[in-house]
Amino acid sequence: MRAMVLDKPSRPLQLRDVSKPKPGRGQLLVRVATCAMCRTDLHVVDGELPDPKLPLILGHQIVGRVEEIPEGANSKFQIGDRVGIPWLGWTDGECVYCRSNRENLCDRARFTGYTIDGGYAEFAVADSRFCFHLPDGYNDADVAPLLCAGLIGYRSYRKTGDARRLGIYGFGNAANLIAQVALHEGRELFVFTRPGDKDTQKSAKKLGAKWVGSSDEEPPEKLDAAIIFASVGPLVPAALHALAKGGIVVCGGIHMSDIPSFPYADLWGERVITSVANLTRRDAEEFLEIAPRVPVQTKTETFPLEQANIALDRFRSGKLKGTAVLILNAN
Ligand SMILES: [Zn+2]
Ligand SMILES: [Zn+2]
Repeated sequence: MRAMVLDKPSRPLQLRDVSKPKPGRGQLLVRVATCAMCRTDLHVVDGELPDPKLPLILGHQIVGRVEEIPEGANSKFQIGDRVGIPWLGWTDGECVYCRSNRENLCDRARFTGYTIDGGYAEFAVADSRFCFHLPDGYNDADVAPLLCAGLIGYRSYRKTGDARRLGIYGFGNAANLIAQVALHEGRELFVFTRPGDKDTQKSAKKLGAKWVGSSDEEPPEKLDAAIIFASVGPLVPAALHALAKGGIVVCGGIHMSDIPSFPYADLWGERVITSVANLTRRDAEEFLEIAPRVPVQTKTETFPLEQANIALDRFRSGKLKGTAVLILNAN
């Protein structure tokens, strides 16, 4: 099968003919239809995340159809079913985290397109217990960004509880999807972009944000919660400073530059800083149920598999107009 392979970080992916993966016990063989790109893919390519499997097939927002089901696989799938394969690819089910409904923190977790091969290829195998049915009403390209930008965004959003005034720092793919859910649930949205990024500010305003501005500005009201999607450490004290008492700052990214020091007075008043790590299967079930009801709309820019490097470059330099989605066998 054709695959785009990462041999070593900081090198372009190589288009290669590799052998088709064989599903083991409990796994599905999936013919990949589409695979959306995530900022994490960039962090892996750029060597910002430790110990990826090498050589590696990236991609953890995989939409495909079940091609083969060996013995022992989850009976919720049949040959031909459309499935989504997300970032969380496997957990041990027995560590202290797994046994306390926190499988996202599993010590031995494996991750699609990072420690196991992902979807920048014609086929992928996945543990059936971690695959999902996808809502009808989305085509194969449009549904793909829900699988990570949507899921991680949703987990970040849930951490903000019932915050009325919600700030979002960095208005990329995850922010765009989760802002739609937040507005649907009646939250007031305050969106912070890179200074001078008028286009993003305009689109946030159009979506329904109450206020838009630059990340170095103070919002007109104190916030009950803020989610930081940009991988920029100095945004943490900035967001903290914008919080009302009892507010929470949620860092939604897997990688961030160092956080500068800040006065304790900004944390005082029971303010909280937390991060979001990975996702649980429950997050996925909840979000995939809510998304079509909002309905959450995705914006995509599609590329053939062999143009993955071009798509990654455009993503890195901020030139994409939507989530990059690789098209393989899409309907
Ligand atoms: Zn575990
Ligand atoms: Zn991701």
